[in-house]
Amino acid sequence: MTARILVVDDIPANVRLLEVRLLAEYFEVLTANNGADAIETCENGKVDVVLLDVMMPDMDGFEVCKRLKSDPATSHIPVVMITALDQVSDRVRGLEAGADDFLTKPVNDLQLMTRVKSLVRLKSLTDELRLRASTTRNIGIEELLSRDFATEDTKPRVLLIDERRSSVERIQKMLRNSAELDVATDPHAGFFQAAETAYECVLISTAFSDFDALRLCSQLRSLDRTRFLPIMLLADEGEEGRILRGLELGINDYLIRPIDQHELTARLRTQVRRKRYNDQLRASVAQTIEMAVIDGLTGLHNRRYLDSHLQTLFDRAVARRRPLSVMITDLDRFKSINDTHGHDGGDDVLREFARRLRKNVRGIDLACRFGGEEFVVVMPDTDGAVAEKVAERIRAEIAQAPFAIGSDGKAIEVTVSVGVSSLLKGTDSVAALMKRADLALYEAKSGGRNRVVAKAA
Ligand code: GH3
Ligand code: MG
Ligand code: MG
Repeated sequence: MTARILVVDDIPANVRLLEVRLLAEYFEVLTANNGADAIETCENGKVDVVLLDVMMPDMDGFEVCKRLKSDPATSHIPVVMITALDQVSDRVRGLEAGADDFLTKPVNDLQLMTRVKSLVRLKSLTDELRLRASTTRNIGIEELLSRDFATEDTKPRVLLIDERRSSVERIQKMLRNSAELDVATDPHAGFFQAAETAYECVLISTAFSDFDALRLCSQLRSLDRTRFLPIMLLADEGEEGRILRGLELGINDYLIRPIDQHELTARLRTQVRRKRYNDQLRASVAQTIEMAVIDGLTGLHNRRYLDSHLQTLFDRAVARRRPLSVMITDLDRFKSINDTHGHDGGDDVLREFARRLRKNVRGIDLACRFGGEEFVVVMPDTDGAVAEKVAERIRAEIAQAPFAIGSDGKAIEVTVSVGVSSLLKGTDSVAALMKRADLALYEAKSGGRNRVVAKAA
């Protein structure tokens, strides 16, 4: 995995030191020796992780971080703060500025690499989601990206898996005001609980009497439902090897006992913020996919969806020697409904028509808005005679009860004409099937409207 790392430090020798180590691992390295340059480089794009020195003249690292995190164009870039002093207050300040992680000088090689690699992995996931969300739908994405999830004051649901009662009580106390905390004292039960409930973070103690906490981490990472659930390890002094192994397995963060309350809450907030951000992106991608195949006005599938599925339904019917019918419906004199009652009135009619249409077809039928006031229903396993009956039922359902439109619920008469066609034995095609339904519809219109015409096979 290669990535572009920006190293920011006011002392050239420090920059060089990190640069050499990163280059040895085949990372691409960019450098800056002050905050303003660092911000500019990030704005120009293509930075995957920032390694940021805290103590710099002019603008210190906290300020640089705060600015990067408050600009939607750069807020998704992971920032690792590099502090000279191993002071909890510095770490907390960094996390509060929005830093994703920090390292202390002199930087431990293994820690540097695992931290950078795990952030690069996370960043590439976020990038992919951002790309998918923004290429398919530009509207809304900027607003989404600029939302500040940290200030959303819903407390995160967090699961603590820890068998030591004293440690559980301490953490309960620490998180009393900042999380809805559940506790599992048995690691196996904890695993199922994590999979069944919508937690936003899970805290796992390494101190089980006869269970390897890392096994739990790897199980959570391999299960679909918990793959993106942030995991924080609560480890003891001297467990560095285990932590590194955990980071390789995909844990998101760790804390070393004795745990500092500020550090715990700040780190938890970072994890939850990131998860909420990615969840939003993922939902937005799913919504985009749905929008691409669903008609916004009626909620029925759209023409694009029909085009991609009709051939499949057709091929399946031919292969299984099963019947297949299609109907095209077109509202009568719809233009005059629009002219008399306005476009909004027309939209109300379309929505109500779609509702009645949906009510009168089976679940396996594919009902689509074909365009304007034309709708198509594809009916698998349905021969011409049955399809004609269905069409007649729909025609009657439209004609027999007036449509209520507008805010005052004005009632208006609506009728529909329907053309029906069915799969021919011998040679037939999707295009020919649709063409016959269209001809039948034309006959229904010219024959006086409010009627069904079926093209005999
Ligand atoms: P016919 O009985 O021959 O089908 O006459 P018609 O007036 O229904 O047919 P025509 O195709 O001339 O007019 C269809 C109208 O549907 C024209 C168009 O403005 C209107 N229309 C298309 N899409 C929408 C929509 O989404 N909302 C509304 N309100 N009107 C639409
Ligand atoms: Mg029309
Ligand atoms: Mg019409």
